[in-house]
Amino acid sequence: MVNEPSVVSISPRERALMDRLVSLSSSSGSHSPSLATMQLEFPELEVEVDACFLSNPLATDLFWTHFNRDVLEDPQLFKRMLEAYPSQNRVIASDLSPALGIDAGRLFIANGATEAIQAIIQNFSSHVHINVPTFSPYYEFAGPDRKVTRYQLDATESFALDPVHYVQSVLRSGADTAVLISPNNPDGYLIPDNDLAWILGKLASVKTVIVDESFIHFADRDSSGTRRFGALPTLVGITEQFDNVTVVKSMSKDFGIAGIRAGYAIMDPARVTRLLAQGYLWNSSGIAEYFFSLFGRPVFLDEYRKVLNTYRATIERFKTTMSCADFVRTYPTDANFQLMQMPLGVSADMVASLLLVRHGVYVRACGDKVGLDGEFIRVAIRTDSENSKVLAALKDVLSSI
Ligand SMILES: *Cc1c(COP(=O)(O)O)cnc(C)c1O
Repeated sequence: MVNEPSVVSISPRERALMDRLVSLSSSSGSHSPSLATMQLEFPELEVEVDACFLSNPLATDLFWTHFNRDVLEDPQLFKRMLEAYPSQNRVIASDLSPALGIDAGRLFIANGATEAIQAIIQNFSSHVHINVPTFSPYYEFAGPDRKVTRYQLDATESFALDPVHYVQSVLRSGADTAVLISPNNPDGYLIPDNDLAWILGKLASVKTVIVDESFIHFADRDSSGTRRFGALPTLVGITEQFDNVTVVKSMSKDFGIAGIRAGYAIMDPARVTRLLAQGYLWNSSGIAEYFFSLFGRPVFLDEYRKVLNTYRATIERFKTTMSCADFVRTYPTDANFQLMQMPLGVSADMVASLLLVRHGVYVRACGDKVGLDGEFIRVAIRTDSENSKVLAALKDVLSSI
């Protein structure tokens, strides 16, 4: 049952739906049910805005445009993707290498970044030090055989990472693996370049330092010397100096293609060899390989940069609007989502359920996030019109309870 303050008026239909929603969420573990699952389980609910999943909606359209055009030009293209094996891991790495400006030998192609995280943790780690709140696979994939220790990020400091305390915490823990996500999920805090460089220098004795830059394209960072991959922000410039650093990069959020399962990790070549010696041969798919092939098309990258800039402007507008919103507490973000804290006594599960039941707005209630004490929701930033809908709905729900 969802806890209910005495003043709120919820119809029996809403109440029944909310209880089913909460039980579906708890049976999905630490990830929200997908939109497809939601629609299957709740055909009576019309999800108008999916502000749960974190993707650039304009980039999905860009991929879709290229794909449709190519299929029209070559009607056999899609059939070949279905019929044939995709290329092997090393072949895709070689094809992708020039566009990324990274040696092919340092590239591990993954079936989504989640697979890279699993491969790294399960092959190179015995003790993982994570910053909480975090993206849950970093501790879940450690399983029962590995130790996990935590560094608590502080909500009152807007989840900013204190470099000195952090380094002390890693070294004291004795962990052989440290995980830095920047911008972090779920709070959106970006580690400034000079902090990151300092931290990596201090952690040179730690066997593996993972830097997850899955949301880095959304961050408006503009420091020189760290950029590669055209004008897109990435940290590989810094990380190439350190053998122990592994960069993890999802394509799901910035390119809006979570369904394809495409990601990669950059690491020492000996580690790539070690991983590939035990599997991951055809771990991509024809469609993921097609997606990576678009990186070799300058026109695609140009269009992507434009789409990214348009989306970034939308993100900025959203943040400006939220900075003067008084109905909910927000945290500064450098990603394409914002963490919001509910007013005292208001349950995040209830707000999320009411948003869905009354307004068709799907957001992430963060009750299951380890290291996040309090009632939080995470709202993905979408298009201007969707954002307006989400904010109006949120205001309405919060004023009714
Ligand atoms: C979503 C996410 C990933 C994994 O994305 P894939 O879809 O598996 O590529 C990795 N790291 C963080 C921080 C994420 O939020």
